[in-house]
Amino acid sequence: MKHHYTEEEMKRMMTFKTKVVYDKITEEEERVYWAKMIWNRLAMPKHRVICWLAIQGRLKTTDRLCQMGVTTDAQCNLCCEHTESHQHLFFQCSYVKRVLKYVFEWLGFKSRQDQLMSIMMMLNGRSRKSRVQKQIHAAIIKACVYYVWWARNEAQWNMVLWRLEKVYRIIRECTVMRINSVLPRKISSKDIAWWENVKSKVYSV
Ligand SMILES: [Zn+2]
Repeated sequence: MKHHYTEEEMKRMMTFKTKVVYDKITEEEERVYWAKMIWNRLAMPKHRVICWLAIQGRLKTTDRLCQMGVTTDAQCNLCCEHTESHQHLFFQCSYVKRVLKYVFEWLGFKSRQDQLMSIMMMLNGRSRKSRVQKQIHAAIIKACVYYVWWARNEAQWNMVLWRLEKVYRIIRECTVMRINSVLPRKISSKDIAWWENVKSKVYSV
């Protein structure tokens, strides 16, 4: 089974919509891989669920609430610049991108990779990273999806806009705690050293 995307496909992913991502993963071969990636226990159960719903475009974003007649204001409460949709939250929102900048700096991702779903797709590609390392990265990205949705709910329902640095710290502390507690004991010394190195990186904020 090959989990490989061409460079051209990776470029196109930068403009993918969640629906397209979902269509991609509904291909049988991909679905097996994604099921393993999404439902891996390194991520907290609630993070897996929200991520799975986000990929399928099933979260109740304000554009959907407007369509349902629940609200008339579809503006994104995080950036207050655009209509809130899955596409906006997970690909375009300036607030989310600024949170992710901290996370990606921590993980050593390249700056142009600032879209959550693109990163999820990228984890599916070829890389020198081991399976455990990819799973750890995936767990952290799933936490990002969860806390983007959490920050959105805080802004939407509690009128609280959390500081970007605070959201980053929650993502980091929560994932380190979770991974430490469930990381299999039988992993290579190379993976252990890699994880220790990730944890030891100093806060940039
Ligand atoms: Zn926004």
